[in-house]
Amino acid sequence: MSLLSVAGITKRFGGVLANREVSFDVAAGELVGVIGPNGAGKSTLFEIITGFYRPDAGEVRFEGKRLTGLSPDQVSRLGVGRTFQKLRPFQGLTVLENVMVGALQKCHDVGRARAEAREILERVGLADKADAYARTLSTGQRKRLELARALATRPRLLLLDEVTGGVDQRSIPGLIGLVQEVHRAGSTLLVIEHNMRVITAVAQRIVALHLGEVIADGPTEAVTRDRRVIEAYLGQAYT
Ligand code: ADP
Ligand code: MG
Repeated sequence: MSLLSVAGITKRFGGVLANREVSFDVAAGELVGVIGPNGAGKSTLFEIITGFYRPDAGEVRFEGKRLTGLSPDQVSRLGVGRTFQKLRPFQGLTVLENVMVGALQKCHDVGRARAEAREILERVGLADKADAYARTLSTGQRKRLELARALATRPRLLLLDEVTGGVDQRSIPGLIGLVQEVHRAGSTLLVIEHNMRVITAVAQRIVALHLGEVIADGPTEAVTRDRRVIEAYLGQAYT
């Protein structure tokens, strides 16, 4: 049985068809990339899977349970974690406290949540920033914090939206290594990436979207050579 099943998802915003009958499955242990040019419908799909948007048609199942119709909080409690493309840490909380907010969703003992948050900060390379305020972090560090907060909810499926988006080039290899480490540690990952260099480094399989539709789904090497995928990216940086 697949861990995540996306079946016939359609989402309209006025005249824009942001997702059009999108279907694919993710098996436990996979790291699947979701690619596509700007406006392809990647973020909309994540919002639908995580309960922030309701689709006009189709349904999403996780471990056989229907997610469609549930609130974001209910989806998260079932074991689907996510990061946001637009970062929004609690600016007035410390880095450690931000991660504790995630940990407290599953564990109601503050002492244990703090210990768990410290462990996760160690994993993501932010241990030395634990007591800094979130607002003082660089973009790359905020991306790590966002990942740490999501990991603290102990997801069995983790959705990452543009983990390397907007960070400086020097921070990218470290973030790639971190995503690989999280996958090796046992998480199933669905990763949106605009940067082809990043996606080919981390994903075993890719689902490519264009104008809201799945135009390719298969092994990374095959999808990155697919004619429709290359054409969809023409005119945009294929880096
Ligand atoms: P991607 O993440 O692949 O860049 P999005 O899912 O953000 O693409 O957007 C897909 C399409 O849906 C775009 O045309 C975008 O303008 C539109 N869209 C996304 N969210 C909204 C919204 N909340 N309201 C109106 N249009 C939206
Ligand atoms: Mg997006």
